[in-house]
Amino acid sequence: MVDPSLLVLACLLALSAPTLLICRALREYDRRRTTVLADLSSLGRTRASGLIAGTVVIAGGSIAGIAAARVCSDHFDDVIIIEPDDCLTPNMRDGVPQYDHMHIFPNMTLQIMRRLFPNFDQQALDVDARILAADPGISAQGASAVPTLLPEMLFVSRARFEALFRRLMFLSCPNVRQVRGTVVGATLRSGAIDNITYVPHPSSYPQNPTSAGDANCEKTSAQSPVAIRATLFIDASGSSSLSAALFPESASTLPPVETYDPCVSIVTGYARLPDAQSTPPNIGFVRSVVHEEGRVGHVMRVERDRFCLSLAARAPSQPLPTSLDSFVSAFSSASPPEPWTHALCPEKVERPWNPLKVDSCIWVKNHKGERPGNYISVGDAAMRLNPLFGTGVSKALMDATTLHAVLEALPMSCVERSPQDGWDSLPAGFSKTFFKRQAPRLQKLWVSNKALDYAHPTTAVSQEDTRKTGSYFRWYHTSLMSLAKSDAFVARTVAEVSQLSAPESDLYAAPLFLKVLGAAIMKRARGWQKK
Ligand SMILES: Cc1cc2nc3c(=O)[nH]c(=O)nc-3n(C[C@H](O)[C@H](O)[C@H](O)COP(=O)(O)OP(=O)(O)OC[C@H]3O[C@@H](n4cnc5c(N)ncnc54)[C@H](O)[C@@H]3O)c2cc1C
Repeated sequence: MVDPSLLVLACLLALSAPTLLICRALREYDRRRTTVLADLSSLGRTRASGLIAGTVVIAGGSIAGIAAARVCSDHFDDVIIIEPDDCLTPNMRDGVPQYDHMHIFPNMTLQIMRRLFPNFDQQALDVDARILAADPGISAQGASAVPTLLPEMLFVSRARFEALFRRLMFLSCPNVRQVRGTVVGATLRSGAIDNITYVPHPSSYPQNPTSAGDANCEKTSAQSPVAIRATLFIDASGSSSLSAALFPESASTLPPVETYDPCVSIVTGYARLPDAQSTPPNIGFVRSVVHEEGRVGHVMRVERDRFCLSLAARAPSQPLPTSLDSFVSAFSSASPPEPWTHALCPEKVERPWNPLKVDSCIWVKNHKGERPGNYISVGDAAMRLNPLFGTGVSKALMDATTLHAVLEALPMSCVERSPQDGWDSLPAGFSKTFFKRQAPRLQKLWVSNKALDYAHPTTAVSQEDTRKTGSYFRWYHTSLMSLAKSDAFVARTVAEVSQLSAPESDLYAAPLFLKVLGAAIMKRARGWQKK
């Protein structure tokens, strides 16, 4: 006679094994579709079947443009970046208003940089960056995570990060050139871009041929527009809305655009606080020091004794400080007091301190429109998010990783070589393939960020939504954040997902789901007891 308890156990095992397998398969599907984790293993490797002959033209030489150039140098024999700013002169960035604002670089930024540049950690340390395990997302809620193994992040100023990225890219990619100019037009032939036109800007390139990058930068004397033939055109022009200017005639098939305004303004200042050097090393982290309704303030040590102070407000509930005194007092009255606050005074803040109204969030749904077959768009040109979530740079790097995966999967037999000039053409569906792969990755970020932004009554919601959109996600996320204060496993999972190094489905895995459910039941029970 078989023991009935053994029989029950056997049945449970028989049922749970397939359930476990199905859950694993679903997680893997979500991981491949919505993150770039599966594409990372070959990132940074040169195309095995030989380089594609032709020129990749990239509009914009900021984060997304540099990342795209680094990836394309592994797949094409010639890459040219066209950028209006004189990027080689430090602090000359008219085209990037957020250049001086605080940036955090989550784990995904670090993972991709390590793939693109095998000696990245040492190079970062050489420019006084810090690589530390942290999660500002949790501390930004006003709580410290319980001690746990959090993912590593990169802490450095945006200006230094961009300069380092550009230098490493030029050092490792002799087939990438940069010219100073503004992309203004495109000519199409048979559904693809034939030529890209740019207006050159007078430039002093090369200034110092010994510094990395200068050797790749071309001096231009031409004043009239220049046309370049493009095998592939990459729009990395940030908020410029370049694609709308380039392809107005195909308006009927333009992709739909979704937009909402989180109504965020940010003011950033830098202060040298030599006395603060003795403060604990965790001041290298982004520290949330002001967390009032509608206002959040962070401090980050960006160099040895130089601190970046950033105060963001969700207008109009909380106006930003209009004077340096009130800016400083928002930080010096931080509660609980920080070890450096006593040293902060208006005289220590470098000028100019920099207020900025953040642009609306926008998603150009390229996967739903008709685009030329050799056109792609990356970084903020494809989607601009609320900077308070600190994911814009990672997103630009993820787009470049997606591009690498699409190019790697492209067999040489699909590339058509012209017998006349040996120039290669990409297959007609190239653009569609890229946008189809990029879309679910962007969508995950868009939906979750939007849901959290809609919690604030100051957010102007998208025309497609109501204020209730995303309410379930908001409730679930708030519950998780509250559990993260005391539960190391929850804290780590939330940190990994918010830093884009794990799929969002991990938040709904059985252990977390049951914890949230348990906490909700306990809360309800306590409510009943009180009654
Ligand atoms: C206040 C603020 C704080 C932020 N904080 C963070 C953060 O903490 N973490 C994070 O990850 N992200 C953050 N972001 C977002 C991040 O800065 C952007 O996502 C990132 O810079 C996008 O890079 P990009 O290359 O796509 O665009 P951009 O950096 O905007 O660069 C676009 C480039 O294109 C050039 N260009 C424009 N028009 C043309 C043209 N016609 N032809 C050729 N070139 C052209 C411009 O000169 C510029 O160099 C923040 C943003 C803001 C506004």
